[in-house]
Amino acid sequence: LRRNPGQPEFHQAVHEVFESLGPVFAQHPEYIEGAILDRIIEPERQIIFRVPWIDDAGRVRVNRGYRVEFNSALGPYKGGLRFHPTVYSGIIKFLGFEQVFKNSLTGLAMGGGKGGADFDPHGKSDNEVMRFSQSFMTELSRHIGQYTDVPAGDIGVGGREIGYMFGQYKRLTNRFEAGVLTGKGLTWGGSLVRTEATGYGLVHFVCEMLKMKDQEIDGKTIAISGSGNVAIFAIEKAQQLGGKPITISDSSGYVVDRDGIDLDLLKRVKLEERGRVADYAALRPGAHFVSGGSVWDVPVQIALPCATQNEINREQAATLVKNGVQLVAEGANMPSTPEAIVTFQDAGVLFGPAKAANAGGVATSGLEMQQNAARDSWTFDHAATRLEQIMHDIHSSCLEAADRYGSPGDYQLGANAAGFVKVADAMLDQGVV
Ligand code: NDP
Repeated sequence: LRRNPGQPEFHQAVHEVFESLGPVFAQHPEYIEGAILDRIIEPERQIIFRVPWIDDAGRVRVNRGYRVEFNSALGPYKGGLRFHPTVYSGIIKFLGFEQVFKNSLTGLAMGGGKGGADFDPHGKSDNEVMRFSQSFMTELSRHIGQYTDVPAGDIGVGGREIGYMFGQYKRLTNRFEAGVLTGKGLTWGGSLVRTEATGYGLVHFVCEMLKMKDQEIDGKTIAISGSGNVAIFAIEKAQQLGGKPITISDSSGYVVDRDGIDLDLLKRVKLEERGRVADYAALRPGAHFVSGGSVWDVPVQIALPCATQNEINREQAATLVKNGVQLVAEGANMPSTPEAIVTFQDAGVLFGPAKAANAGGVATSGLEMQQNAARDSWTFDHAATRLEQIMHDIHSSCLEAADRYGSPGDYQLGANAAGFVKVADAMLDQGVV
């Protein structure tokens, strides 16, 4: 890690995986002989580029763009693009590293990658977002392709941004190459259920975890952080199954709505008006907005962090435990600090790690690629059934690996081991490349 100075998030992600893999290496000396560890933490390729664009006032602006093509042992690089002011190499590399194992867990043929830019879409006009996205794609287009690298959305990149980027890629290449991006619009190669997939998949995973304890989500109170793509559709699926999400948040604070989140209102405020959670609270009788503060102070039975990395620290985890939380599953990537994870595990709280629990999004991106390759489009029910089956299989793989490596019921070890072993075996098969 001396090669990666000043990248604490990347160090954290690597430690989290490697610290749990001792039992795997004990059973597989060939991974040590093949220098898998040294190879797997070094991205195959990293691209950093200038993204110049012109704002509505006619001023030239410059952002920095990234694409880290981390590992292609199992298939083309696959992973989202994040547009957020905090983006830098350490964030993109932690996300890319996690993505390698997550994609492996889905059982689909996808390598891992991630990208983005330190661009803040908040407060930008549609035209500014379009000009930025076009400039970003002008460089990115040289590096991606349906058989090479297939980006998707992440924080700050949704259907609008994917549309602008796809349009620019098509213009530059003179090809309608649907499989080059996922998260596309439904009339031009997108898949039904992709928008909902990460949130829905998270709740399916939670249901599988609860089933192991002879419990159901029905009637349980749920704290959800964030109010973006993952949060909204986690709320939707939880409500469909009788769960009761009572919180949402964004970077300005959180909302408690004891009657249960009004999903139609939330969708209107966030998806149509691009508003804030405070706007939701202002329109919803009985809900109240807390500026700043921690959404994890709210007593609940289930906590689903769906905003960003390191949003639950040791103290916040201890508060959740003190208030009786029974299950934590990660919708966001690496939302719990290492100390928070230990706090949950020591207290016997069921803990579903991100690379398993939020894999439904990329899995459905894989299904979108399948539909594009076959020039087909599936019904909502067919795609939703495939997603549910994949989440069920990921859950089983985690538990089987946890058993095989000596820690029954440990989802963190299970997810890391199951994801890692497939990639490591493929790397050995393919020689030193
Ligand atoms: P969105 O941009 O749709 O929403 C992000 C939400 O998180 C917003 O409510 C945002 O609030 C909040 N947020 C972001 N950064 C911060 C911060 N620093 N502090 C507090 N709140 C913050 O993103 P997604 O819902 O797509 O992604 C959320 C998480 O899920 C990310 O960790 C992402 O990597 C992960 N994920 C997403 C997948 C997907 O399919 N979209 C797939 C797998 C994982 P604000 O508007 O104030 O910034």
